[in-house]
Amino acid sequence: MKPFLSNRVQSLSESQSLKMSQLCAQLRAEGHDVIGLTLGEPDATPPPVVSEAVAKALSDYASSHYGPVAGMLSLRKAVCRKLQNENSLTYAPEEIVVTVGAKQAIFNAILALINPGDEVILPTPCWVSYSEMVKLAEGKCVFVKTTPESRYKMSAEQLRQAVTGKTKLLLLCSPNNPTGSVYSKDEFRAIAEVLRDYPDVFVIADEIYEHINYVGEHCSLASFPEIADRVVIINGVSKAYAMTGYRLGWMACHSLPLVKACLKLQGQSVTHATMLAQCAAEAAYLDTPDYVAQLRQGFAERKAVVMQMLSEIPGVKCVEPDGAFYAFPDVSSYYGKKYRSASSDSTNSTDLTNFTNFTNLSNLTNLSNLTTISSSSDMVNYLLTEAHVACVAGSAFGEDKCIRLSFATDIPSIREGIRRIAAALSKLV
Ligand code: PLP
Repeated sequence: MKPFLSNRVQSLSESQSLKMSQLCAQLRAEGHDVIGLTLGEPDATPPPVVSEAVAKALSDYASSHYGPVAGMLSLRKAVCRKLQNENSLTYAPEEIVVTVGAKQAIFNAILALINPGDEVILPTPCWVSYSEMVKLAEGKCVFVKTTPESRYKMSAEQLRQAVTGKTKLLLLCSPNNPTGSVYSKDEFRAIAEVLRDYPDVFVIADEIYEHINYVGEHCSLASFPEIADRVVIINGVSKAYAMTGYRLGWMACHSLPLVKACLKLQGQSVTHATMLAQCAAEAAYLDTPDYVAQLRQGFAERKAVVMQMLSEIPGVKCVEPDGAFYAFPDVSSYYGKKYRSASSDSTNSTDLTNFTNFTNLSNLTNLSNLTTISSSSDMVNYLLTEAHVACVAGSAFGEDKCIRLSFATDIPSIREGIRRIAAALSKLV
């Protein structure tokens, strides 16, 4: 019998961050007291101008009908103004494609560029979806491992060593998910100098966390003229304006053949981003920068709490994130340790006495036996069952020593979550 599902979809991994977020939501809906440190989205509400624009657009005929595949001209102009004003980069509206979230912009660009066997350089740790998108395009990921010593940044030398005759694309994210690393202008200049020697290599510069930057100005790889024509900037309103649910992103690229290819893909798949979401995004870009600055300030305060609390947990090491809203602590000093059922150890129960039996959920570990933690996914299962804290395994990002904690949540939850993590780690034997 022929397989029901395609080989393509069967080889695809599920997004671990979405999976853990959904599991966390499910457990909460069932009444469990779970602290969620999984979500990659700001907990703020978007600027008021956004809902006002949506309310106005609701009665507008155009908003409920098809629009241009590339996105509304007025929105593309707003994106061009943003690039000019904030990044000193000049783009024309024809060089912008509005997409269903930044995710679709990346997907379009990968599908438009990659032939089977083409190599894509991915510095790791990196966002969970890149490698799966490359897989769908039948490309080959070339992972370049970065370490805490370089603050999880790829050096120009590492890049040079990774490039081969088959390299088609470099995919770089700054500020980075999950490590929070931010490349400086000098570091990007060195990378641009390497790329100058390889004129066939394109770059996807994922700048979705541009505004969540704690160290200063954002630098775009597109600001280096020698490679600017080959850089695809990816951005959107999800993270800066707390608009993840609007699913609104965009790409900016000087290569018109690539823009046309992405439009062809888009025209044959989603047609265009939702008109209401486009009106909402346009309003966000017209908003004052105060909103973004306040959001960033809030994240900076949360980051300080996270870093302080993590530094007090024995054996946990964490490179301070310079951007985004994730901490990526190395918890591997606890690998090899064991845990036993919380119910068999009532002396350690403290406020976890309302520990509920999760074992009816097939994907969680049964705590009735002594179990060894030997990976980041063992660790996140343990933290969920023992501490009722949901986070994401580092293995999903290419670094099994670490777990990812999102601090895009309120400070009391962060404090309670990390307190529970510390208590759970201290119980390991
Ligand atoms: N790029 C990175 C690095 C992300 O972390 C995310 C979302 O978490 C995206 C892109 C996708 O953003 P959007 O929600 O706009 O699709």
